[in-house]
Amino acid sequence: METVVSGIRSTGNLHLGNYYGAVQNFVKMQHEYNCFFFIADLHSLTTHPTPANLHNNVKQVLVEYLAAGIDPEKATIYVQSDVPEISELYLYMNMNAYLGELERSTSFKDKVRSQPDNVNAGLLTYPVLMAADIIIHKATKVPVGKDQEQHLEMARTFGNRFNRLYNHDYFPEPYAFTFSENLVKIPGLDGKGKMGKSEGEGNAVYLSDTPEAIRKKVMRAVTDSGPTQENQQKPQEIQNLFDLMKVVSSPDTYTHFDDLYNNCSIRYGDMKKQLAEDMIIATAPIREKINEIANDAPYLRQVARYGAVKARESASKTLKEVREIIGFRNF
Ligand code: AMP
Repeated sequence: METVVSGIRSTGNLHLGNYYGAVQNFVKMQHEYNCFFFIADLHSLTTHPTPANLHNNVKQVLVEYLAAGIDPEKATIYVQSDVPEISELYLYMNMNAYLGELERSTSFKDKVRSQPDNVNAGLLTYPVLMAADIIIHKATKVPVGKDQEQHLEMARTFGNRFNRLYNHDYFPEPYAFTFSENLVKIPGLDGKGKMGKSEGEGNAVYLSDTPEAIRKKVMRAVTDSGPTQENQQKPQEIQNLFDLMKVVSSPDTYTHFDDLYNNCSIRYGDMKKQLAEDMIIATAPIREKINEIANDAPYLRQVARYGAVKARESASKTLKEVREIIGFRNF
């Protein structure tokens, strides 16, 4: 059975981008593959969270994984820092990751721009830790959104480089995976780029948002003054709303508003109202479950402990072999 690995950073609540880009695929894949889904708390240290924030965020992602439908009996759910083998493999992989290629990573360049006062080495080597996350379980499929494509390419490069350096066909190549035709990119509500946790207030709709909060955010989404010519191309902020509608609404609803846009009779207020209601319907079952399990500390502890044991079993097997391949041997 093929192995699947993916994770989400513990930097805040999960939003629609995380859900449609990643978690929805996790839920489907758990029935068909040997799945490992983790909470990337080591990755989140690059932004220097306080201990209390870190702990809360890890718990929240765990709650939301479970609420979205990941079954701990089927998939291995674990907290990244509970598996120290990952950090050790990260150290080994760092020895053959080169400064030039790490500096060229788009996400690194973005971070240098967005947090110029905290360009730490962990940001630079983020793709190396991500490679370690994946290859520690010798995974071949990685369900992620479009923004992770370049990191996956780097994970293949590092795994292949290790194989070549030690003349050993050891790590298989991991590829980004989605059930849809293309990797998903969910836009935000601010009229600009993707939906993200750190893109500013109002840009992201969270799985835990109340119906009122969703309505408020969507009604405030950026629009323009409306189309003036039939079938004209949609500007980005309008295209974003249609892209969101494509994932949460029915095809009929989408076509209805698309037709209205194309014959210049669309009223954005109506479209946003519909979009908000469809987002509420899409997220309601998850939100209810979040509220159900958020305070069940014994259950959450049990899931995390069970997952850590299973993840370490797989990780320590790989690490033992890697150490032998590198040449660490007992005297
Ligand atoms: P992160 O929140 O950056 O740790 O991302 C966790 C997962 O969610 C990754 O697989 C991302 O590709 C995915 N993801 C995050 N934002 C989006 C988005 N706006 N559209 C699609 N996928 C996303």
